[in-house]
Amino acid sequence: MVEGALADAEALAKTINSKLCGAMLRDGYKAGFKPLRLTRHSDTIPYSMVWSVKALTVIGGGLGGLAAAITAAEAGASVTLHEAHRTLGGRWRSTPVRKKAVANPSGNPPTYRAHEGPHVIYRDGPTWAWLRERRLLGVTCRVPLSAATRFRFWHEGRLRRVPPIGFLRALRISRRRDVPVDRSFRAWASKVVGEEAAEMGASASGVGIFHHDPGSLSAAFVAERLSRVYSIPPPASYRQGSWGAMFEEIEAYARSLGVSIELGSRMTSLGMGMTIVATELESARMLLGDDTLEWPSGRAALLDLGMKRDRHDLFAVSDLDTAGWLENFTVPDPTIAPRGEHLVQMQMPIGSETTKADGVARLETIADHALPGWRERTTYRLESLANARTGAVDFPGTSWRDRPAIDRGDGVYLVGDRVAAPGLLSEVSLNSGVRAAELALA
Ligand SMILES: Cc1cc2nc3c(=O)[nH]c(=O)nc-3n(C[C@H](O)[C@H](O)[C@H](O)COP(=O)(O)OP(=O)(O)OC[C@H]3O[C@@H](n4cnc5c(N)ncnc54)[C@H](O)[C@@H]3O)c2cc1C
Repeated sequence: MVEGALADAEALAKTINSKLCGAMLRDGYKAGFKPLRLTRHSDTIPYSMVWSVKALTVIGGGLGGLAAAITAAEAGASVTLHEAHRTLGGRWRSTPVRKKAVANPSGNPPTYRAHEGPHVIYRDGPTWAWLRERRLLGVTCRVPLSAATRFRFWHEGRLRRVPPIGFLRALRISRRRDVPVDRSFRAWASKVVGEEAAEMGASASGVGIFHHDPGSLSAAFVAERLSRVYSIPPPASYRQGSWGAMFEEIEAYARSLGVSIELGSRMTSLGMGMTIVATELESARMLLGDDTLEWPSGRAALLDLGMKRDRHDLFAVSDLDTAGWLENFTVPDPTIAPRGEHLVQMQMPIGSETTKADGVARLETIADHALPGWRERTTYRLESLANARTGAVDFPGTSWRDRPAIDRGDGVYLVGDRVAAPGLLSEVSLNSGVRAAELALA
């Protein structure tokens, strides 16, 4: 790639007049080659030197944009990355000190490190492998064995220690190789294990899907997530001190490769050269001026709670009734909350007709059982709504291949968690970022 494309042209002319380069440079720019600065040369320059490395602009500094920028820079491209915020990470950013923290008796600012987005990375997936290869994972934590005794299922309005048999049957069939793409999980699984088991399996997949009705989605899509999330041993991994901290190291690594990172740089249009758009799909639609860029995603009410520690607090609850999830992140990593406190994050997928308040109320009901007396112990609380921010969902008859294509033509590429790449949640962003860079440099 580096200096390769036009190197053969040297046979035609050893040097050219730099003043005649205008038209050629315009074409080259479109193809993503970065011209050398002509002011450095007087009248003549070597032909092969007109083009140096490929130049690439990446818009968006989340996982997808950084994967694209790093992949391209590792291959020798000259990369400029624009990120609208002052920090990198996108939905991986960890929450800093909160404005909405409830009264804090000690007077010290709370030091919870919660996430908007990824809470876990799965060890069997591409993100883990990609970060590990570059030594960017840092110190990671796994679910301690002792946490197994503090895991519960929420079924028919109460907590259960033992997984319902129907859930286990749904889990077993999710590992089959012949799960259909063109039928809903509900229709397919009901035939094999019965309706009740199918519903439990669908709801259990909610933690990796964030859709209020996973049973209506493609059977293959749901089954893949269900079987991955509930693998034994649990593949979920946590970064000590939060994933947000990892982005400082990713940034340092990218800069060491020569990636020029412009923070606080919100792009409102595409430039002339080769460009990778790695923003949320809504922003990409605007930047590309393409109203057809669309793919369904989930909607979920989120509730984060910091609270005085109680030894009866559970580690996790899988909601088999309405696809919710509760997780006490201080169990694998106590460093993310002040000493003596627990940080619990909960999610409840809701349809468009359900309000955030209703979703939060459902979560509070589960919390009442999982975290005894939590209301009196609470030191910090944050409610939010994640709308179209939790990655792609595939309906029957569609798979990741049907989502918006990465290659948009004319040197423009699309990256994100709702584009045509495989994986679970943010793995789609990682995979599409790497692929976009490969396509741009091909
Ligand atoms: C509640 C929740 C829980 C989740 N849990 C998990 C999980 O456990 N595991 C997992 O793998 N994934 C999880 N995800 C999904 C994960 O957060 C996303 O898939 C991933 O962060 C998407 O990365 P991205 O780089 O594609 O997009 P983003 O992270 O959104 O990055 C896009 C970036 O582009 C920037 N940008 C936008 N417009 C412009 C512009 N015009 N100019 C310059 N910059 C711009 C934005 O500021 C942003 O930084 C979760 C998501 C949510 C919301």
